[in-house]
Amino acid sequence: MIPKETKVVIVGGGIAGASVAYHLTRLGWKDVVLLEQNKLGGGTTWHAAGMVGRLRTTNSMTKINQASAEIYAGLEKETGHSVGWKQVGSVIVGKSSERMVQLHRTCAMAELMGVEAGIISAEEARHRWPLIRADDLLGAAWLPHDGKVIPREVPIALAKAARQRGAQVIEGVRVLGIEHTNGRATGVLTDQGALEAEFVVLTGGMWSRELALRCGVNLPLYPVEHHYVVTDPIPGAFDELPLGRDPDLCIYFRGEGQGIMLGAFQKFTKPWLVEKIPDDFSFKLLEPDWEKYQEPLAAGRWRIPALEKCGFEKFVNGPESFTADNNWLMGETPELGNLFVLTGFNSIGIASSGGAGKYLAEWIIEGQPTMDLWSVDVRRFGPWANNRAFLRERVTETLGLHYQMAWPNREFETGRGLRKSPLHDRLAAQGACFGVKNGWERPNWFARAASSSSPLNGVRGGSLQGQPFATKPAAEYSFSRQNWLPNHAAEHQAAREQVAVFDQTGFSKFILKGRDAVTVLQRLCGNNVEVPIGRAVYTGLFNHRGGFESDLTVIRTATAEFSIITGSAQSVRDFNWITRNLRPGEQAALVDVTSAFSILGVMGPNSRTLLRRVTEADLSNPAFPFLDSRLITLGQAMVRAVRITYVGELGWELHVPAEQAVLVYDTLMAAGSDLGIANAGHYAINSLRLEKGFRAWGAELSSDDTPLEAGLEFAIDWKKEFLGREALLKQKQAGIQRRLVLFVLEDPEPVLWGGEPIYRDGVPVGCTASGSYGHTVGGAIAMGYVNCAAGATPEFVRSGRFEIVIGDRRWPARAHLRPPYDPERKRVLADG
Ligand SMILES: Cc1cc2nc3c(=O)[nH]c(=O)nc-3n(C[C@H](O)[C@H](O)[C@H](O)COP(=O)(O)OP(=O)(O)OC[C@H]3O[C@@H](n4cnc5c(N)ncnc54)[C@H](O)[C@@H]3O)c2cc1C
Repeated sequence: MIPKETKVVIVGGGIAGASVAYHLTRLGWKDVVLLEQNKLGGGTTWHAAGMVGRLRTTNSMTKINQASAEIYAGLEKETGHSVGWKQVGSVIVGKSSERMVQLHRTCAMAELMGVEAGIISAEEARHRWPLIRADDLLGAAWLPHDGKVIPREVPIALAKAARQRGAQVIEGVRVLGIEHTNGRATGVLTDQGALEAEFVVLTGGMWSRELALRCGVNLPLYPVEHHYVVTDPIPGAFDELPLGRDPDLCIYFRGEGQGIMLGAFQKFTKPWLVEKIPDDFSFKLLEPDWEKYQEPLAAGRWRIPALEKCGFEKFVNGPESFTADNNWLMGETPELGNLFVLTGFNSIGIASSGGAGKYLAEWIIEGQPTMDLWSVDVRRFGPWANNRAFLRERVTETLGLHYQMAWPNREFETGRGLRKSPLHDRLAAQGACFGVKNGWERPNWFARAASSSSPLNGVRGGSLQGQPFATKPAAEYSFSRQNWLPNHAAEHQAAREQVAVFDQTGFSKFILKGRDAVTVLQRLCGNNVEVPIGRAVYTGLFNHRGGFESDLTVIRTATAEFSIITGSAQSVRDFNWITRNLRPGEQAALVDVTSAFSILGVMGPNSRTLLRRVTEADLSNPAFPFLDSRLITLGQAMVRAVRITYVGELGWELHVPAEQAVLVYDTLMAAGSDLGIANAGHYAINSLRLEKGFRAWGAELSSDDTPLEAGLEFAIDWKKEFLGREALLKQKQAGIQRRLVLFVLEDPEPVLWGGEPIYRDGVPVGCTASGSYGHTVGGAIAMGYVNCAAGATPEFVRSGRFEIVIGDRRWPARAHLRPPYDPERKRVLADG
């Protein structure tokens, strides 16, 4: 019998659901009901390989996996139920020099994140895993604290602990629908009646998408076939062998009793082509697919020659849900308040659920995430991503990404072309190489005809002189200079010295309109938005901790109307943040008009000359000052021109009705041919904004970073009340312990991508958030937070000797507290 009401109902008793129940009760919430349609762990969990790695690519994700490992290690003691935890360590082998660079990056980051990891030789790798072939290896990474569990036992133990603390765990109950009223979840309807609840948590694994769709919620995930085999006993194999990974061969392996488990993350794999996930697919597997497994098997036999002659006891072909970007889905859904999700685990749900359940429980209890969880936030996808045809194509690629090289700027190959600017085909015809952000195809850079005369003269990245342009719009990935760098240099230079046009159509655009629009924005924005009509304001939106929920531009377009421009990635999140903070009775309607307008950036010293040729508006400084905006004629079109810049040069962003984007673009290009007008892409925006010290949300700014740490106090109006002010005032009094700093490498040769550790006087103090090549400053450029518990003062920065780690080498870097490039005086500053 199910109860009639509860505070929290959790739908799905896999490892994720059991973990949420465990943590909610651990945090003191006892009125928790967990419903499982079959038996605990019977979905995807029971047949997992059970590998628990601690290290992920970001701090937050590593904290989550660390928490999982610690919980699993203590579960038997806590509950009396063994989960088979064995801390066997893991070894990741590398056979190419690029892979070794990646492993070095991994180990360097591990040190910063508090995970023990080190590079070992090929021979040492063989010593740890005596059955592997090592003669083709260049080395390996060794992580001694990784471990493994028996996956089907973990939800049982977690649920046992939750029960002991008061939760009800009920098996054999199927949830048929999520009940809701006025945009909030109110409970569930089950095959045994209704259950009212204040909070509903959906942890239904691959079933989650269909259940969510029934109440209008988008959870873009889709099941993929994931394979491993287990051998008969093999001499020399034993259960305590470390977890082994050979990413170059797309395989993993570990001891399983006296045999070996060999699993695969093939580059491309198969979605499970079912119309609907069967309700009764519990403790079941798909048919073995030996044909698809031939390649991993051959790879396994190469790496572990003993596999040549053995028999196989088991072939596991298990469906597991994957998402469009290989990160899971977590948090409160934007469509329904009080409906939380934790699902779509992309084959890392064993390693991550223990910790993810903790952070979801905190999120539910506190009403906001307790650390930056943007990479897994369910609000990173709009409805566009929940198209089944798209998902079926994209997930074939995401599974393999676990082991593909984590190239900087790597772009998806599948599921492309979903959201295009009106200029897309024109830009493609001119050599645009597109990347994708939130589904939008955005030009990253432009290939050039081989005959282009070198526009690199005067670019300070002098070592690029003579390097050929990439003439095909395809990136050749590498950790060092990629093929497009000369093209990027030319675009960067065009914006600095002449005029460049950027298609920024993918930016998210909202209109907030209504009697209380000013009141609402004044409450949410750190900066003062009560400005004259036509004025633009740069501002942050802050959470209660004073961290950036977003940073955006607000333009007052009428007494009670604002146009809001924010990043391409965060349209759902920002829309949700603003609307969820409206108070009852307030009159302010937010409308997403992203698809109605294109944004063209016209940037560079010749931008005014160019625009004057095509508009009757007065663009002089007194008539059109910085941060003003107005409707102007442009050729035969009408656009809103905003005098603003994200690249540090004179320029205007043009907000163009989508149907006039082509007209405006053609008008500009025709008028600017003698002014050196050039197409430029998002890579150029990145390097230009770094040289000018402009921060990017999602890189330098996150919900964990405050404006004081980020050096953005100038955009705070302390005189008014706003969300987050209290926390910020406290921090202002106490002083900051981390500070955002700009770095330029002294050697002009290497490039930076972000994610590189920063050393001060030989001690690690942080890592870069984003990086690029600064063609005007003549070296690799990056921004990153440096930490100092005693106070991250300007003096701490000025007095340090900084180095940035690339691969296995530390490169001396100049630290800047002010942007190294001063566009007013057109010069490069030597120091900060
Ligand atoms: C072959 C293979 C190997 C793997 N190896 C590893 C590994 O080594 N390490 C690792 O970290 N991860 C691994 N994984 C991934 C891991 O198994 C999953 O990420 C994880 O089990 C997902 O857990 P979950 O709780 O989200 O989903 P599930 O385990 O599927 O749980 C969801 C539960 O919800 C229930 N449910 C669904 N709908 C309803 C409803 N309407 N009403 C009531 N109940 C419902 C289901 O019955 C199910 O029990 C592997 C996966 C596969 C396929």
